[in-house]
Amino acid sequence: MKPYRRPLAAAALAVGIAGMSHAAVAPVLVIHGGAGVIRHDMTPAKEKAIRAAMTRALEQGHARLKAGKSALDAVTAAITMLEDDPNFNAGKGSVFTHEGRNELDAAIMDGNTLRAGSVAGVQRVRNPILLARAVMQQSPYVLLSGEGAEAFARSIGMALVDPSWFRTEERWQQLQKALKEDAAKQPYTDEETDRHLGTVGAVALDAQGHLAAGTSTGGMTDKRWGRIGDSPIIGAGTYANSGCAVSATGWGEFYMRTVAAHAICMKVTQMRVPIKRAAAEVINQDIPSLGGNGGAIALDAQGHISIPFNTEGMYRGWIGADGVPHVAIYGDEDDGTAELPAQAGSSTQP
Ligand code: ASP
Repeated sequence: MKPYRRPLAAAALAVGIAGMSHAAVAPVLVIHGGAGVIRHDMTPAKEKAIRAAMTRALEQGHARLKAGKSALDAVTAAITMLEDDPNFNAGKGSVFTHEGRNELDAAIMDGNTLRAGSVAGVQRVRNPILLARAVMQQSPYVLLSGEGAEAFARSIGMALVDPSWFRTEERWQQLQKALKEDAAKQPYTDEETDRHLGTVGAVALDAQGHLAAGTSTGGMTDKRWGRIGDSPIIGAGTYANSGCAVSATGWGEFYMRTVAAHAICMKVTQMRVPIKRAAAEVINQDIPSLGGNGGAIALDAQGHISIPFNTEGMYRGWIGADGVPHVAIYGDEDDGTAELPAQAGSSTQP
């Protein structure tokens, strides 16, 4: 199928809102693997595997940026790798729904053009981020769901996998535990953190100064009734414009109610709030004040990074001008972002 071409007027408007010329900058890639970290559930082997996977995803994504590829390409490459890794709640290793299925959500957004694509509730797409990107580039739509999204995947020649591809025993046991907890007491009260483990996301700044954001998830363990989280909702879990890119992870209902990713970016681009403060206000004030929790990765067009979270830990990593991957998990661990900005030679933000 040929790429879908938008009407000219719409394209011009998008560039008018989003487009800006930037001097060449050192590329930056920031990734997350979810904010549902629980220290007592971690084993040394699992921790090692997660750190190695995050390091590889950073290196692969950054290699693309260094080769002059776009922020969109780096985000896509990093997320695809994490989707294929069973340690994360995205692609293979996604959490199970109440009915024992895997229903996957993903989104991607190009900050330079404000184009976006997302998919929700897909059960047979190995890499939902690739389908989200295809929705953006090869369809006239932004968000496709369920069987329709899979029919679109087939129509562009994307191979579908058997739903058993996504299954891991660990996620199955998490569902059994959640079902028991539900039977014993009111659901959706105080056990939420361990139901949103391991969503993945990436934000990138390329050498052209363009930003992109992407997120991919299996959602929350024991979700039902076709529940869709914030990740594929543009503005809630995923957003990028010419000055800011955000991928969120956490209890999705609260990210939708605060339109979290968009709220952070509006503070940065409209109100000129430094990205660290903007992201912290939304993630550590607005969301907890409603009763939610989680984290986010945020990046601005100068390469400043912010990674706020209010859970015990968040799988997170970044790579900037020096090409060294930084990976951290726990809240009390130095993730190197104190040495911001990632751009060599630029000044530190307030
Ligand atoms: N935000 C995701 C959702 O609510 C879950 C997560 O990030 O862990 O579907």
